[in-house]
Amino acid sequence: MNTIGITEKVKTASTQVKTKVVVAKGDGIGPEIMEATLRILDKAGAKIDYDFIELGEKMYLSGNTAGINNEAWEKIRENKIIFKAPITTPQGKGYKSLNVTLRKSLGLFSNVRPVQAYTPYVKSHFPNMDVVIIRENEEDLYAGIEHRQTQDVYQCLKLITRPGSERIIRYAFEYAKVYGRKKVTCMVKDNIMKITDGLFHKVFEEVATEYPDIINEIQIIDIGSAKLAANPENYDVIVTSNLYGDIISDIAAEVGGSVGMCGSANIGKDIAMFEAIHGSAPDIAGKGIANPSGLINAAVSMLVHICQPKVADKVKNAWLTTLEEGYHTADIYQEGKSVQKLSTQEFADKVISNL
Ligand code: NAD
Repeated sequence: MNTIGITEKVKTASTQVKTKVVVAKGDGIGPEIMEATLRILDKAGAKIDYDFIELGEKMYLSGNTAGINNEAWEKIRENKIIFKAPITTPQGKGYKSLNVTLRKSLGLFSNVRPVQAYTPYVKSHFPNMDVVIIRENEEDLYAGIEHRQTQDVYQCLKLITRPGSERIIRYAFEYAKVYGRKKVTCMVKDNIMKITDGLFHKVFEEVATEYPDIINEIQIIDIGSAKLAANPENYDVIVTSNLYGDIISDIAAEVGGSVGMCGSANIGKDIAMFEAIHGSAPDIAGKGIANPSGLINAAVSMLVHICQPKVADKVKNAWLTTLEEGYHTADIYQEGKSVQKLSTQEFADKVISNL
């Protein structure tokens, strides 16, 4: 028989070749939450070889205006998996967002952002909230195509394509099918942007016909996001364009408990990048109080992606136990309900002790 016995299986697992993952520690709270997360992965027995690259702030300061050098691009293209902490992009001026460059240059078309409530351990008014936001990741106003028309008139191009819309919408339905989810909601603003959002709407209706077992609905983004904030338990999978997806995932994350809790997977045909949904949080950087949970959840998705589901389960369960025991970082700490307010590294230590 062509099956392996249990001892051989265990041996195979323990001698499993390590997967090479390119790691960027980011800036702001990035290095703190990355250190916490990598310590947990190591203690959980993840078979990963880390290959560190420098992205963002330090590169800019060294005169590299792209924020990334050729060596980093080569490592990413060779290893195909990136684990990335947040990086800062200045508002209203300065260099282009490296996050956007990475997503576009590497063809990471789908940004998968699960948001779940963890009541009563983490405060949320919606105990049954469990929504996955699937955000188109390469097009829309996020393409960053802006120019000046006259002295006082500026223009930003909203780019929506049929292939791009079809790919992300099909991804959302396939995701729902594979994970046994019942409904996909499309959010658009095609009462105003009749051509661009109108195309996204039209493609959604076309693709939906291929999935008769999955409920589909279309909502206008303004009332859709209001309803998401008011009744998030009514949503299952949401598919939307880049900017709307960016905004509603932060709303959903806060409604679910904290923006610091959620991880994301940026998925392309060959390459995948895993990161927290939040940014570099300059207001709390260096204080050692950031919640590493978003990056921990991103790591769990990455472990599944690189075929280490047992390690993923181990990390997820230890993290859940830590929340249940009431050991919380400042953003989710509840006076009288939490047991102790922990720093980033103390929280990681608790997760490690629960592995
Ligand atoms: P942010 O997500 O960094 O912070 C928003 C608020 O949430 C802040 O009050 C912050 O303290 C809090 N917060 C965020 N993460 C937290 C955590 N893990 N634990 C506890 N509290 C947390 O958003 P911002 O302030 O608008 O952006 C800061 C910078 O991050 C900007 O330069 C932005 O461009 C960048 N950014 C990067 C990414 C990325 O790298 N993928 C994503 C979003 C924003």
